[in-house]
Order: sequence, then C-alpha cells, then structure tokens
Amino acid sequence: MTKKALITGLTGQDGSYLAELLVDQGYQVYGLVRRSSTSNLVRVSHFTDEINIISGDLLDQSSLMDAIALSQPDEIYNLASQSYVPLSWTQPSLTAEYTAIGVSRLLESIRRIKPDAKFYQASSSEVFGQPDESPQTEKTAFRPRNPYGTAKAYAHWLTANYRQYYNLYACCGITYTHESPRRGTEFVFRKITRGVAMIKLGLADELKLGNLDAHRDWCHAKDAVYAMWLIMQQENPDDYIIGSGETHSVRELVDCAFKCVSLNYQDYVSVDPNFYRPDESVQLVGSINKIQTQTSWSPQYSFNNLVEVMVAHDLKELMDNQL
Ligand code: GDP
Repeated sequence: MTKKALITGLTGQDGSYLAELLVDQGYQVYGLVRRSSTSNLVRVSHFTDEINIISGDLLDQSSLMDAIALSQPDEIYNLASQSYVPLSWTQPSLTAEYTAIGVSRLLESIRRIKPDAKFYQASSSEVFGQPDESPQTEKTAFRPRNPYGTAKAYAHWLTANYRQYYNLYACCGITYTHESPRRGTEFVFRKITRGVAMIKLGLADELKLGNLDAHRDWCHAKDAVYAMWLIMQQENPDDYIIGSGETHSVRELVDCAFKCVSLNYQDYVSVDPNFYRPDESVQLVGSINKIQTQTSWSPQYSFNNLVEVMVAHDLKELMDNQL
C-alpha cells in the first residue's frame, strides 16, 4: 500500500526537501499551504505535479481537520512555523499563534480525525536558549531566551503530553540550524555565502555582519530531513537531537566562505551593531549520540563541504541571473 504523508510548511526549506525525499520513497505527498495573494511555491515548483497541495493554515482549526480528513495520512510532519528569531520579538503573539498554539490545533485535529497517524514536530535548539551544559542532549533543561524558543518549548512539551496521555505516535526532532541553497538570505549562513558570491563577482564590495563570535551547530537541511523521516520509522515514538555534533563560530564560517573564492574576509567584512541580537543563544551544539546509536543516521555533509556547496550555488545562481 502506498504510504501517505501530510507536510505543513511544504513551501519552506525543510518542507520542500522532505517532500522530495518522500516522493522518492514512493509516498503520496500532501502539503499544507497558506493562501496568499502571491504564489509561494518557488521551492517546490520543479515537482508540483508530483505532490498534492491543500490550502490550510495552522491558525485555523477546521482547515487542519479538513486537510487530515482529505489526505488520510500515515505520517504528518509539522514543519510550519514563524521561524525567524528577530521577528519573534516584534511579533511575539503571531509567533505564539503559529509556533505554539498551531501545534495544539494540529494535535487536537490528529486525535479527533486520524489518531493512528504518526506525528513529527519540528522542535528547535532555541528551546535550550542559554543551556547549562554543552553539548546539549535530549535531557538538557529548556531555558529559551526569545519568544520563538519559548513557543517551540510549549510545542515540544505538548507533543510529549499527547504521546503520553493519548498514546499518539508523536515525536520531536530538536534540530540545530540547518542550511541549504534554499535557505533565506536573512539567516547568517546564506547571507554570508550570498555576500561572498556577490563580492567575488564585483556586485558588492562589503559584507556587514553582527556578532562574529556567536557559535552554531550547522548541518545541511537534506541531512536534517532524512533524520526526520528515520525518526518516524522507529518502532517507538521518541525525541531526538538532530545536528552536526560540531560547533563553529560565525567568524570561522565567514573565513571559510571567503577562502572558497580565494579572498580574505578581513578585507570585506565589517561589524554592524544593528545585526547584534539583544539577548541571544550564543553557544549551541547538540550531542547526536542518541540518534546515531538508535537509528542508522549520520550527517553526510561536513561543515567545509556545506560552505563549499553553498558558495558554489550562489556563484552559479548570480552568474545565471546576469546572463
Ligand atoms: P538562528 O538565530 O540560529 O535562527 O540563525 P541566524 O542565521 O539568523 O543567526 C545565527 C547566528 O549568527 C546568531 O547568533 C546571530 O547573532 C549571528 N549573526 C552574526 N551576524 C549576523 C547577521 O548579519 N545576520 C544574522 N541573521 N545573524 C548574524
């Protein structure tokens, strides 16, 4: 029997990669997409005929119930959220509506319409905020430091509550930052690889960044979505950290990206206090021991490899646009 999956956040970076993976695995894929006046399907435009798009919104309970009733999914992946940390400070209520209460609406819809569907919740390393241990594990205390992390912490615990109380097959993957050529340029990794490509091609002469000493655990989004799928194939539902298991600073990232095009970052990068965050998580790195021991997963892209792939992509994309 063909397996069916419903993905919220289909049009985002992770949703589009996960949909590709599931189509390749022979799934019938349904994607929940918010109605908007302009089309937002750019990340899935190359295979829209292979997926089923359903109009719906995490803010609207009945649309979620309808989407589940229509698609009758075996697996539901909740990858939709308001995911940009700085915006969570200027729009905290909307962030909570999507990122926290949206998950409550989704879990209630599953419980009522298709309680045997497996559920994956995209948790985030932002739940750890300023953690009291490093690397973080699945047992590290949550100390979120921004409205986004706080909303994700609520969603994480609610998923665990539904697993325990209603016996749903419900899992959380606590992903650290994951990147790809489909990442928005507001995030530092893509901002840097895009900026390096523009400088190399003579389209810009400087790159303004914030805190170069912030550290992150960066992996490729393709590695992350494969982990999500594997988590849902385990016999019992559980929570797992998904990351590279390594930490690197923004300074290392910028150094590595400029080296890819044989330039020295110190000649082009200036620090702009406008990009500093008021109260941020600075030292996040996850232990991937549990997922590596309990499943067959391990990241396929190294840090250097990821930087190279993204710089090469941005160079090519800009050159193609100039033709
Ligand atoms: P996230 O905070 O992990 O969701 O992802 P970002 O890519 O937006 O930020 C990663 C880290 O890079 C944070 O610690 C930022 O403070 C730091 N950073 C330094 N300069 C910049 C910048 O110019 N833009 C962004 N977005 N982040 C920056």
